[in-house]
Amino acid sequence: MPILCAAAALTPLFKTTLELKLLKYLAAAGYTISCYFYSLTFKVFAMSQKPSQPLPSYLNPDNPGPWAVFLEQVDRVAPYLGDLADWVETLKHPERTLVVNIPVKMDDGSIEHFEGYRVQHNLSCGPGKGGVRFHQDVTLSETMALSAWMSIKTAVVGLPYGGAKGSVRIDPRNYSAAEMERVTRRYIEEIAPVIGVRQDIPGPDINASGQTMAWMMDSYSKKVGEHSPGIVTGKPIPLGGSLGRVEATGRGVFIIASEAARDANIDLKGARVCVQGFGNVGGTAGSLLHDAGAHVIAVQDHTGTIYNANGLDVPAVLEQVRNTGGVAGSANSETISNESFWSLECEILIPAALAGQINANNATSVQAKVIVEGANGPTTPDADDILKEKGIRVVPDVLANAGGVTVSYFEWVQNLSNFYWTEKEINERLGVIMREAYATLSATAHEHNVSLRTAAYIAACTRILNAAKLRY
Ligand code: NAD
Repeated sequence: MPILCAAAALTPLFKTTLELKLLKYLAAAGYTISCYFYSLTFKVFAMSQKPSQPLPSYLNPDNPGPWAVFLEQVDRVAPYLGDLADWVETLKHPERTLVVNIPVKMDDGSIEHFEGYRVQHNLSCGPGKGGVRFHQDVTLSETMALSAWMSIKTAVVGLPYGGAKGSVRIDPRNYSAAEMERVTRRYIEEIAPVIGVRQDIPGPDINASGQTMAWMMDSYSKKVGEHSPGIVTGKPIPLGGSLGRVEATGRGVFIIASEAARDANIDLKGARVCVQGFGNVGGTAGSLLHDAGAHVIAVQDHTGTIYNANGLDVPAVLEQVRNTGGVAGSANSETISNESFWSLECEILIPAALAGQINANNATSVQAKVIVEGANGPTTPDADDILKEKGIRVVPDVLANAGGVTVSYFEWVQNLSNFYWTEKEINERLGVIMREAYATLSATAHEHNVSLRTAAYIAACTRILNAAKLRY
């Protein structure tokens, strides 16, 4: 009898009906079950042990790729999560991972097959949100990491989304526009079972344009038999795209730069600003800072670095970029070496071009007071440590360039409600969200005496895990 009671009490621990039946049979037959308890104890002990490397079986443990970087970031932030640290394992496993084959007929009649992914990292706070990247080097590990960083980014600005990302292994330079259209449409058809206006909303990423998003929206709408503009963001305006989306990321960078300057007692009027990358993000941020009275003293892009100690004529530089594709040769500027750009004395430095630009080689010479990361991942972790020691405040990418995903969220909201806002309304709402997010991170950084980057991860992981815990 005591044996049967023990068996009943432990019932939830037995994983299979077969195990339970066997146990009841043994108990009823009066056999000793100590051996079973021994193996059970071992099993429970093994289950309670955290795996040292929670890598999914489909990643190579010897070369896990970018996903390992994300895991390390989560481990670093876990000590700050209080009771929620028990839930941190949730973040180390993408919620849903889809790998698809994309067979496409080429212009010459042959068939080529491409690998595509859609990863939904965590959907606790809402449907998935994240761009689709078309690049020959994308991997599943990279897509997983990018989806996880979308979870962090959307949570940092408090959007009701989870993190997702998609990609297709293709070098678009080798294919015609018609072939890219067929690849895009087939990709959407293949991932259609896991996306939806309230499930997962793709957007553009590398090598995806407004036209790409229009094809995606059209293919999905035809598949489900109804006009579905809310299935993707980054659409052209006639298809339900949002006003202000093109400038949103640069505008967000400007808003955050203004907040960070105020925190550091820097008057924006007359503040010296250096910008790397003068495309969509850097050009917009530089232009808005110029309008606010800052002096953009140096700009670097793929064509070189231009400088004017009294401030460049930003509208003229933008005109030069429009006309020639780069900043080199802009009026009223001198050319300086690309290396010297990083050691210029300035109040605000905005890397808005490529990843890994501020690294162990140049971080020691940086003389900015504040760095606002317009690009994704422009500062390497070792450079981060150097900058921290130098007392330079770095506003991380997950906040600084979140203006883009914030206005994508506005686009989606407008699509769902079929009611469209003015550009003024969009910019004002963007300002409210960005400023609130900056204030939250600033307070978190202050509370834990950590960098804004660590604060961003603390705030984001707390938000996601709180939601996950409430739903469990
Ligand atoms: P873009 O193509 O419009 O501009 C890129 C700029 O980088 C150009 O001025 C180019 O000349 C410059 N550049 C390229 N190679 C360079 C080099 N070797 N040295 C110096 N400059 C170089 O791209 P964008 O949309 O402005 O994006 C810039 C960064 O911002 C990227 O890291 C992107 O991932 C990130 N980002 C963009 C958005 C967005 O909405 N556009 C959103 C989030 C993050």
